Amino acid sequence: MISRRAGQIASFIAMDVHERATVLKAKGSDIIHLELGDPDFPTPDCIREAGAGAIRDGHTHYTHSQGMLALREAICADHFDRYGIEVSPERVIVTAGTSAALFLVMAVLLDAGDEVIVSDPAYACYPNFIRLFDSRPVPVDVYEEDGFQYRPEAVVGKISPKTKGIMINSPANPTGNLLSEERMAQIASLGIPVISDEIYHGLVYEGRERSILEFTDRAFVLNGFSKRFAMTGWRLGYLIAPSEYIRAMQSIQQNFFICANSISQIAGIAALKEAAGEVARMRSIFNERRLAMIRGLREIGFGISVEPTGAFYVLANCKAFARDSYREAFALLNSCQVAVTPGIDFGRNAEGYLRFSYANSLARIEEALDRLKGYYGKGPVPSGVRDGKS
Ligand code: PMP
Repeated sequence: MISRRAGQIASFIAMDVHERATVLKAKGSDIIHLELGDPDFPTPDCIREAGAGAIRDGHTHYTHSQGMLALREAICADHFDRYGIEVSPERVIVTAGTSAALFLVMAVLLDAGDEVIVSDPAYACYPNFIRLFDSRPVPVDVYEEDGFQYRPEAVVGKISPKTKGIMINSPANPTGNLLSEERMAQIASLGIPVISDEIYHGLVYEGRERSILEFTDRAFVLNGFSKRFAMTGWRLGYLIAPSEYIRAMQSIQQNFFICANSISQIAGIAALKEAAGEVARMRSIFNERRLAMIRGLREIGFGISVEPTGAFYVLANCKAFARDSYREAFALLNSCQVAVTPGIDFGRNAEGYLRFSYANSLARIEEALDRLKGYYGKGPVPSGVRDGKS
């Protein structure tokens, strides 16, 4: 018998699409992957070399539960360089990806029946981290015409005595948009701990990303190496927390994870110290793809009111073609062999939208756009497209 708790964790639809795409690929389909947030770039050489060196040098044992001091110092130096914020390594816990950092934060903040405010749409896994601790995600609708930014007054309206945190994510998944400095400052001033997922920092194409620590100390920063350094498989992330929470989080880490992967930690030091040039190169390629994706989707008839300026996603309004995003995503997969994620994965309020990831080459993005043009009757039907519009 599956526990009630496990039963309420919905599947991650992006992964369901991906797994179906993999089956079709095995049967010979030429699938174009625009469904996942996994950079197509190899991890930069200097990072891979450091990882290989870590194995050769025998860094293959447990580390300090909070992470190697040298890595935590490098993380603090990175925060100082990027935001002018001084953080001491004692406030950092290195984790197995940002996902494990989310687990630790929810574990330390939530008792049964508590609430966390989350935008709708938001990263699909947030509500499930909250539910795992028998707590309730409280959605705040955000709107396309606002660039899917929180309206601080709407956040205020959802605060209750049970509110233990406000989740923010800028640049955001699935929208690719940034929360403006003014709105971030307003949210920071509400007196509720802010849980700021900063995993897409470093992937911003216009303007500048802001860390929540520039506005308040009453905040948890979550970050990771997966996106900025193309290191999804290394499973490395970290959190920065107010000092009074560290000991409790460290105990949870010791019990449930012991420590993050030692080899990845060494590689992470190289990422922070040596990979800035490679990150800049990847960012400029992402930007080219972003512009091509926005232009192509608009030509087909998708709605993009506010151009996304960060991460590597476009959340496009598909209501001109379909209201049921789940059906539409699978129709595109089956008819065009183009894998995208349905908006509904990210919340009820993103129904009628599809998320396109541009973590794929420009050539494949152009090919996908051609297939979609044919499918939606905006261009010739390429050979890969079957039986037209469903
Ligand atoms: N937060 C957001 C917003 C994400 O998009 C992802 C990955 N898709 C994660 C957290 C988890 O990342 P990881 O565990 O690989 O660091």
